[in-house]
Amino acid sequence: MGGGQLGRMFCHAAQSLGYRVAVLDPAPEGPAASVADMHIQADYDDETALIKLAQRCRAVTTEFENVPAKSLLTLAAHCRVTPGSHAVEIVQDRIAEKAFIVSQGVAVAPYAAIRAESDLRAAGPHLFPGILKVARLGYDGKGQARVRSLDEALKAFAEFGGVPCVLEAMLDLKQELSVVLARGLDGQCAVFPVACNVHEQGILAVTTVDMQAAPMTARATEAALAIARGLKYEGVLCVEFFVLGDGQLLVNEIAPRPHNSGHFSMNACVTSQFEQQARVMAGLPLGSTRLLAPVVMLNILGDVWYPGVDDTQAEPNWAGVLAVPGTSLHLYGKREARRARKMGHVNCTGTTLADAVSHANQVVQVLRLPVSATL
Ligand code: ATP
Ligand code: MG
Ligand code: MG
Repeated sequence: MGGGQLGRMFCHAAQSLGYRVAVLDPAPEGPAASVADMHIQADYDDETALIKLAQRCRAVTTEFENVPAKSLLTLAAHCRVTPGSHAVEIVQDRIAEKAFIVSQGVAVAPYAAIRAESDLRAAGPHLFPGILKVARLGYDGKGQARVRSLDEALKAFAEFGGVPCVLEAMLDLKQELSVVLARGLDGQCAVFPVACNVHEQGILAVTTVDMQAAPMTARATEAALAIARGLKYEGVLCVEFFVLGDGQLLVNEIAPRPHNSGHFSMNACVTSQFEQQARVMAGLPLGSTRLLAPVVMLNILGDVWYPGVDDTQAEPNWAGVLAVPGTSLHLYGKREARRARKMGHVNCTGTTLADAVSHANQVVQVLRLPVSATL
């Protein structure tokens, strides 16, 4: 279910295990549909298409967290569905998601559920400055507004059309981490090394993973496992964390699927997060998540196609990227390079973290990325 880059990389991994993949995606030729063995072009709630998919598949997964939970339930009457609708339903609504995380004894940022203007008025000054986030359908920082005051929050809430939201306190983040893990049909879990992430304008820009475990690894892993168990989760899941200056570890959000911050696993781990998803679906043993080399992952956004101030497109210097030692380039085959659109990523490995960082910064120069990798 879903036709983006995550689906494309899942197809590649499942196909290399010998499986055939059908993609259900409303778009005519998305990144996944163009590499899948079959494309069912239909809306995610099209009953006929769902039945067709279920009849052709032994197992179904989702690469897109906003697939209607009801569709997953429909599919589950006919074939294995991982993750199940109960887990996806919680995670795709920030209000339900935060309440669930707290119920598992894990901390989140100070927040209030906003269903009406009166909830904003009652929210209290500790949530300002804050971020108002729509409860459903947001991604890559879309559906979010940074608000300094109640007035700004009321205005943003109206601009979002009065849909349910959460208002979170704007925190001074020392670091962002994520844990990608897989939980099998038998409840066994395999956790990937903890990733350190840098976001730019609400979009992941750089992920770094060292052989030496990241700070907070034990606590973050424990929290992610508690969440996966509490959701009775089957499949690959990502938990995003905030680290504050005083050492507090908070969960930001959960993604019920492989995650951008787990792309390093494609070149730096024994098993990639996408292969792991295919293994769970097929009821196979989980693969080793062991890190083989320090790695820096750089996201490539559509902006790279527009090096000048005008809107003239130029093909980026891929040969220059591939000339840097230790680099693996992954492009998603999207036809149109729009600014802020995820077009691909580069994994840069090295014998040491310093080495991987130096390779990444060479790629930064070649592509003129607006970021830099640091130790
Ligand atoms: P995605 O699903 O693509 O990760 P999203 O649209 O769901 O993104 P969030 O993960 O909520 O967005 O936020 C994106 C980024 O914005 C975070 O990774 C963090 O850098 C910043 N951010 C979000 N909430 C807060 C907060 N309360 N305080 C400080 N920074 C925040
Ligand atoms: Mg999100
Ligand atoms: Mg996020």
